[in-house]
Amino acid sequence: MRYSKMLIPTLREVPAEAEVVSHKLMLRAGMIRKLAAGVYNYLPLGLRVIRKVEQIIREEMNRAGALEVLLPWVQPAELWEESGRWEDYGKELLRFQDRHERWFCLGPTHEEVITDLVRKEVRSYRQLPLNLYQIQTKFRDEIRPRFGLMRGREFGMKDAYSFDTNDQGAEESYQVMFDTYCRIFERCGLKFRAVEAETGPIGGSFSHEFMVLAETGEDIIVSCDSCEYAANLEKAEIGKDRPSKKERGEAKLKPLEIVSTPGIKTVEEVCVFLKVKPQNLVKTLIYQGDQEPIAALVRGDHEINETKLQRVAGCQRLELAPEELIEQVSGAPLGFTGPVGLKLRLMADQAIGDMVNFVTGANKADAHLLNVNLERDFRVEEFSDLRVAREGNPCPRGEGRLVFGRGIEVGHVFKLGTKYSKAFKATYLDEQGKERLMVMGCYGIGVGRTAAAAIEQHHDEKGIIFPLGIAPFQVLILPVNIKEKRLNEVAENIYQGLQEKGIEVILDDRDERPGVKFKDADLIGIPLRVTLGNRFIKEGVVELKWRWSEEIDLVGEKEVMDEVLKKLNPIKEDRDENPP
Ligand SMILES: [Zn+2]
Repeated sequence: MRYSKMLIPTLREVPAEAEVVSHKLMLRAGMIRKLAAGVYNYLPLGLRVIRKVEQIIREEMNRAGALEVLLPWVQPAELWEESGRWEDYGKELLRFQDRHERWFCLGPTHEEVITDLVRKEVRSYRQLPLNLYQIQTKFRDEIRPRFGLMRGREFGMKDAYSFDTNDQGAEESYQVMFDTYCRIFERCGLKFRAVEAETGPIGGSFSHEFMVLAETGEDIIVSCDSCEYAANLEKAEIGKDRPSKKERGEAKLKPLEIVSTPGIKTVEEVCVFLKVKPQNLVKTLIYQGDQEPIAALVRGDHEINETKLQRVAGCQRLELAPEELIEQVSGAPLGFTGPVGLKLRLMADQAIGDMVNFVTGANKADAHLLNVNLERDFRVEEFSDLRVAREGNPCPRGEGRLVFGRGIEVGHVFKLGTKYSKAFKATYLDEQGKERLMVMGCYGIGVGRTAAAAIEQHHDEKGIIFPLGIAPFQVLILPVNIKEKRLNEVAENIYQGLQEKGIEVILDDRDERPGVKFKDADLIGIPLRVTLGNRFIKEGVVELKWRWSEEIDLVGEKEVMDEVLKKLNPIKEDRDENPP
């Protein structure tokens, strides 16, 4: 490709609309342009990167035995009513009517469509297992689209759905996809980590998120400093800190006391007023569960994890109780609730079990209790891990401690179980001719997000540093002055030669100042730069430089082809060992 014939509208200024590095650089490198909020045009350079990511995904999915399909973007409301998600999905589902006033939506995901297809086409256990995937545009009407391709409304995604005859088969399919995802992100040249993720209140199933490690990432990755345990923040479990019974047994229990705390409600206010530390205080939070209200207890300096609470409580829905309900069940306004005398199901975080002589609300307006103690003053149904993990907490799997890092979620594998096959009656006949539900899994990769995450991970102050696997071109040839006849001639020869060898190469044949060419080369981040500059004119040597290194290799005109192929080859050979 000749630069002069491409459309690469690079920008010198950082566009005001962009907040994160990948968004800024994709705009500046002329890869994308915004059309509407969260909706982008992909320009030639940007599209080449997207196609690279897609191709890696396609090759690895095919290799794993998955079959490519293409499902419609426009989906009829009836299918979404059948799954119950027409109501549940909320405003992210973009709904509209056709000329016959039938309702449709733009697909934000394709569980409904794929399950409908499979229930109609698959009858027998002989047709299973089956894994169908597509690379398709999705639309989610995000309230605040931002960060360019990182959180757009319209975005490219690979979604796959597996159908198995039983749980064991579904778990095998899950493992195959897990391994496939590792290969995909490795080939994209990304440092990543698969972390355990929450599966929602249904339970029984499991799920992993694939996170690209980047300091600029929005997601927190919780991992252990001494074992392989890793999870997202929502899911991260906390191990038992120390044997607490003994410690508690040794402490002297002081008599219960009620104190007046007029208008003193928050943990901070109470601590200042009563001169106690937050870790000596217990917060009592009232939630509305499926049927009845529930009280959850956490230490004053800890934060409740509602997902954990919901799972332990076994509720489909769980939300903080409104003030009227709190007053009704505790007899006191918000801010003065406590466990003593509270006639509700009490769930407590495991750290509460270690506490003695603590402060709680008194279930009475403007009053708190001092020296509250377990067993003596109230009983807890069960202690569980109910709080948000923090750095330094004990690992749930062993002796280590939890550490935090940052990442960008680019993929998700999820064992769905029978949620959709039940809703859609997606059944097959087993060997005995008995009708059974298919067991499903779903597996997504954000294509544009993967490209954006790659840039978040690989860039410097000058621009993008594309990993070779997803770079729009492998080689950029930069003749500093195309009016220099001999220099231009050699650049053309190298360009033709590399193209004949199947290398993706772009020749900067623009009649521009060298400074402009070098700036653009660094900005668009092509991995290998072949420069014909002053040293070529004076000494006849060509400069080879990786975008990620400061080292420059000087080679004679005749050796350029071989040197370039040698530099690109080790990586090519690696890939040839695992042909798709
Ligand atoms: Zn550990």
